[in-house]
Amino acid sequence: MDYLPLFHNLKGRRVVVVGGGEIALRKVRLVQEAGALITLVAKDFCPDLLDMHSSDSKQGSNRLELITATYEHKHLLQYPDAVLVIAATNDAELNRLVSEHAQGSNMLSNVVDDPGFSTVIFPSIVDRSPIQVAISSGGDAPVLVRLLRTRFESLLPAGMAKLGSLAGSFRERVKAKFANGADRKAFWEEVFYGPIAEQAYANNLDRAEQLLTEKLANTEEFKTGEVYLVGGGPGDPDLLTFKALRLMQQADIVLYDRLVSKEVLNLVRRDATRIYVGKTAGDHPVTQDNINQKLVDYALEGNRVVRLKGGDPFIFGRGGEEIETLAEHNIPFQVVPGITAASGCASYAGIPLTHRDHAQSVRFIAGHLRSGKMDLNWAELVQPNQTLVFYMGLNGMETICQQLKQHGLDATTPAALIEKGTSDRQQVFVGNLDSLPSIVRTAGAKAPTLIIVGHVVSLHDQLAWFNQSENPLHGVINKNNEIQNSAKDK
Ligand code: SAH
Repeated sequence: MDYLPLFHNLKGRRVVVVGGGEIALRKVRLVQEAGALITLVAKDFCPDLLDMHSSDSKQGSNRLELITATYEHKHLLQYPDAVLVIAATNDAELNRLVSEHAQGSNMLSNVVDDPGFSTVIFPSIVDRSPIQVAISSGGDAPVLVRLLRTRFESLLPAGMAKLGSLAGSFRERVKAKFANGADRKAFWEEVFYGPIAEQAYANNLDRAEQLLTEKLANTEEFKTGEVYLVGGGPGDPDLLTFKALRLMQQADIVLYDRLVSKEVLNLVRRDATRIYVGKTAGDHPVTQDNINQKLVDYALEGNRVVRLKGGDPFIFGRGGEEIETLAEHNIPFQVVPGITAASGCASYAGIPLTHRDHAQSVRFIAGHLRSGKMDLNWAELVQPNQTLVFYMGLNGMETICQQLKQHGLDATTPAALIEKGTSDRQQVFVGNLDSLPSIVRTAGAKAPTLIIVGHVVSLHDQLAWFNQSENPLHGVINKNNEIQNSAKDK
């Protein structure tokens, strides 16, 4: 081992920093957060350090002292109580001299960016205090360390700090209850990997504390299931939220429907039970009531249930109905938003939903036919400067285009249909209210598709960026909205 990682308690202890620029500033911020008393020695100080000093003086805490001078050995000798010396000037010779002096007095020393002359080095830090992760390569691969840090940042929920503090406040009680270390470990593992942790992450600290108290009082009977209504996004698994992924990887049971992509489903915990509840499930479509009841039943058995939906659960996802039933049965639940098809498809098709020159508002509309009709307030939909996004509109596309024209939109209003948006099979068909239906029908587009109507669609030509590689289906529409190279012609 090159270095022994230790965590340094600096509260109320003195740290001397030599240097007054940006590099010194970064170190000062860190040691200040750790509660150190700081003495800075430099010929001059950058504005941020001066600001920090003046706000420190205003508060009367005097935890940050500035000495305006060229560094000399006497400055260190003046502070025999210093536990750490940081050399942070841009003069390598001076930094080394500072370090030599510090080591001569048996003080820990750090020379910024010069591990060879340091006795201690600063790690990269992921801070969820009291939980902290420190990463170091001993100076060998700082970029790799930064990459790792980014990974840890995304891996550790922001609310982990709260969970850590909660655990801290129960530590003694748990110790008192479980004399045996193995029992204690099992207890905490259940706490950190389940509803109590999730409640803390969701900032429901009272609830988390209550659950933890109950669990401690009666370990045997503790069984509270929970339901997570999770938005799985439009298809590309990279568009999942951190929270969605975490819950998917903890689930006992996952109920998913047709729109959840295979790639997203692959990220569910391997030994979770997966239940398909798509509306078109074979000969026995699962009714909404049936789904609602299933969620209740599984949760009452004590399972962590993920109800995984395409896009966002609260946008044409019946998410509201499902959690109403849960609420009626007092089953704890959480809702995790997902990227809705409109956002996903628009971004991946290079069609901004709003744009200062084209549209100041956007509408999400359910475009399905009911008994062959679409009962919408068309007069509102044809207002200028808005973008219309039709979900579930493939079957009714002719009606949509027809009605919009009839109610006053120009037949040349740009319109696009995006098929399987954000997936590697995404296709974008662009036309206008007159031409789109025939373009789409000729190409034989299949659900799921999304229709976008409005002048923003004209930006697609310039802004398309995704799935641009050679694809036999790609040449379908040319710039004049003529069909070219259609797969069917080949
Ligand atoms: N809750 C979902 C929408 C469910 S309604 C969401 O927020 O996205 C189902 C409709 O969503 C489909 O008929 C289709 O219009 C649209 N949709 C969902 N995923 C899509 C995708 N990858 N590409 C195109 N349209 C999609």
